[in-house]
Amino acid sequence: MGYEEAFPPELREYYRKLFGDEAEEIMASLRTPVEKYYIRVNTLKTSRSKLMAILRKEGLKPKRSPYLREGIYFEREGPNFPDDYEPDLPAVRANKFASESVYQGAMLYAPGVLQADRRIKPGDEVEIRDPRGLLVGIGIARMGAKEMITSTRGLAVEVTLPKFKLPSLSELESFKEGLFYAQSLPSMVVAHVLEPREEDLIIDMAAAPGGKTSHIAQLMQNRGEIIAMDKSKNRLRKMEEELKRLGVKNVRLIRMDARKLPELGIHADKILLDAPCTALGIRPKLWESRTPKDIEATARYQRAFIWAAVKSLRKGGVLVYSTCTLSLEENEANVKYALSKGLKLEEQSIFIGSPGIGIENVQRFYPNRHLTQGFFIARFRKV
Ligand code: SAM
Repeated sequence: MGYEEAFPPELREYYRKLFGDEAEEIMASLRTPVEKYYIRVNTLKTSRSKLMAILRKEGLKPKRSPYLREGIYFEREGPNFPDDYEPDLPAVRANKFASESVYQGAMLYAPGVLQADRRIKPGDEVEIRDPRGLLVGIGIARMGAKEMITSTRGLAVEVTLPKFKLPSLSELESFKEGLFYAQSLPSMVVAHVLEPREEDLIIDMAAAPGGKTSHIAQLMQNRGEIIAMDKSKNRLRKMEEELKRLGVKNVRLIRMDARKLPELGIHADKILLDAPCTALGIRPKLWESRTPKDIEATARYQRAFIWAAVKSLRKGGVLVYSTCTLSLEENEANVKYALSKGLKLEEQSIFIGSPGIGIENVQRFYPNRHLTQGFFIARFRKV
C-alpha cells in the first residue's frame, strides 16, 4: 500500500488545494516516524550534560539540540526494508495501535494480535502486518498461533527487524527517576513562547498528560502557580503520575470543561491553549481516517476555547495557542477569529518553523521541511 491510500480521498484533495505541489511530500513524511526523536531534560532534577552522560552509559546515542538548551534527540534508524518488500513468511496481524508501535521498533505483545497464521510455532520467523496488510516488521514468534490470539498478556513476537527504530526509553532508570520527558521539538518551543515568569498566574486549559505544563513548571523553577485543567479523568490521572515522576510541585490540577473557564472568575496573566485538534500532524500514521468535515467541526470546538481564554485573560495578558495539526481552519482561520475578539498577534521568542499561510507572524512546522511533527503556534496579547 502506497502512502496515497493511507489518506481518505477528500483529505488528499484538501491537502493538494492547501499545500499545492508540496502536499505529496507532506503526506509521505507523515507516513514515517520523525527523523529526530526528542526528549526534554528535566532541569528540576538534572542538567543536559549530566543526562547525556547517563544516557550514554545506558547504551544510547544522545545528541544535543542546537535550538533548545533542554533538548536532546536520537536519530531514527531505517527504513530497514523497502516498501515493496515481500518476505513471504507466516503472518501475524496486529491491531492499529500495536502495529504503529512495532513500526517504530517496539515488541509485539499478545493483546495487540488480531490474527495469526495457524502454522506458527514458538521460534518461527514471522512477518507482522497492520490491519490493512502493510508490513511493519519481522520477528521471532515467542508463542504459538493460538496462544498469541487468546492471551491477554505476554510477548507474542520478538521484533528483530522493525520498519523503523526509535529508542525505547520508558524502561530506563533515568526515565523512572524523572530526568526527562519525551516531547517533540515543536511542543518544546511552546512553553518558551509563553515566556512564563515566577510571578505569573498561568492557566493551561487543555493540559493532560502534562508535557507542556511540566515544561512551564521547570522554566518557573517550580515557583509561582499554574492552574492546569483537562476534562479527561484518565488523562488527568496519568498527568498526576507524570508530575510526581518529574518532581513538579507548583501545579493545581482541575478536572473541568475548559470552555467554562470564565465561570471561575480568574484573570490570568498568561494562558496556554494547546487545543484538542484533529492531530493531522502526528507521525507516523499508518493511515488517517479524518476528513475535512472533522476539520470544520474541530475548528468550531476550538473557537469556544479561544473565546473562554479571551474572557479569562487580564488586560495585557498573553495567550499562546497551539495545535498538532496541519489544517487552515484550526490554525490561521482560528487566529483570525481570535484577532476579531480583541487579541493582537505578537512575535515569538523562538522561531524555527515557517511563517503561516497568509499570516507571517505565526509559526508552522511542516513534517517534510522541519523533519518534526506537523505543528502550529501563535502568541497573542489582549489589548
Ligand atoms: N497540553 C498537553 C500536553 O502537552 O501534554 C496535550 C493536550 S491534548 C493536545 C488536548 C487535551 O484537551 C486532551 O487531553 C483532552 O482531554 C483535552 N480536552 C478536550 N476537550 C476538552 C474540554 N472541553 N475541556 C478541557 N479539556 C479538554
